[in-house]
Amino acid sequence: MSDEEPPSAARSDENTEPAASTPTDPEPPSNRAAKRELALELLAHLEDDELGLSAVIDRIETVTTSPSLTREILDSAEKRGLIDRDGARIRTSAGGSFVRFESDIVAREGDFECRRCGAGLSTGHFIRFEAGELGPFGSSCIRKVVGRER
Ligand SMILES: [Zn+2]
Repeated sequence: MSDEEPPSAARSDENTEPAASTPTDPEPPSNRAAKRELALELLAHLEDDELGLSAVIDRIETVTTSPSLTREILDSAEKRGLIDRDGARIRTSAGGSFVRFESDIVAREGDFECRRCGAGLSTGHFIRFEAGELGPFGSSCIRKVVGRER
């Protein structure tokens, strides 16, 4: 009657990662993978060709505030060829599919708190990714997150 698998049943090929995570890390392992995928999708959709490392981290921080997960996301993004690190500059891959405001951003009425700046919102904007939704953001913060603000 539960979704939990018995611990010593047939070995799964999936769960071979070590269960232990760094002691300072607030993210449970199950959230880590989901958040990593969400952040990687966000990085894959950035409109800027080149960003400072701090600007990239600013975006990753909308997904997680864990420094170790942020490093993991940057490493994964580099391995997957989504970004190219050149010192403090980050080049994003050309030809990525950008977030289209019309179809990929949904607005919902409600009582929200902006994920980026913490401001109270009556309309929350969410970016829809295959890995899930990221948000809510205020109308100006979401432009910064997806790189529309020049
Ligand atoms: Zn905001």
